[in-house]
Amino acid sequence: MSKITIAIDGPASSGKSTVAKIIAKKLNLIYLDTGAMYRAVTFLALKHHLESPSAILTLLQEQPISFQNTADGQLVFLGNQDVTLVIRENEVTKAVSKFAAMKAIREALVDLQRRYANQGGVIMDGRDIGTVVLPQADLKIFLVASVDERAKRRYQENIEKGISTDFETLKQEIAKRDQLDSTRVESPLKQAEDAILLDTTGLDIESVVNQIEKLANEINL
Ligand code: C5P
Repeated sequence: MSKITIAIDGPASSGKSTVAKIIAKKLNLIYLDTGAMYRAVTFLALKHHLESPSAILTLLQEQPISFQNTADGQLVFLGNQDVTLVIRENEVTKAVSKFAAMKAIREALVDLQRRYANQGGVIMDGRDIGTVVLPQADLKIFLVASVDERAKRRYQENIEKGISTDFETLKQEIAKRDQLDSTRVESPLKQAEDAILLDTTGLDIESVVNQIEKLANEINL
């Protein structure tokens, strides 16, 4: 079981990372948040006012993305700067789809993601894991929920973090990001043919985790 490879894809705020983190712990897998990688690249580009993929990638070589696991989560670094919180800010969220659509950026990050997966025993969440990054994954899940439900969950999280948010704006931004991610030319967000569709509208995290865990346990490696 420890060498299973699980791909979790789906639209923005569908609960992918929350669910993937819990399953990683339960099944003793390495968790990789690929969205955090695109966010880190976006943060770097915005900070240095860069638009060209080659300039961004040159800087990324000097300040590579890395992850550090802690007792209560995972930290994201660019070089030795901890960018865990800043990559979640609205400025980055609003710009990320633009940089994630750049072919050269995707190639560099996919290469990195595959190197993580080479060791096996990994659960990765994103938009193109089942279709492009790990087409050979043992289990592929496509997690969806209505845009209203996703916006409600994100709104609740923001309230708990003390971030003031307008619900309708949040909902529009989520829908916009889905539209950009699913209509881009390079590796658009889409369900892999062999992925299992899970609609989490109205479900709590525990029951989603249980369903995926059950599916993972049914796989004979
Ligand atoms: O998962 P998260 O919402 O943090 O992802 C942020 C953005 O990164 C997505 O909206 C998408 O543009 C991009 N992304 C991607 N491919 C992935 C993961 C994320 O294009 N595998």
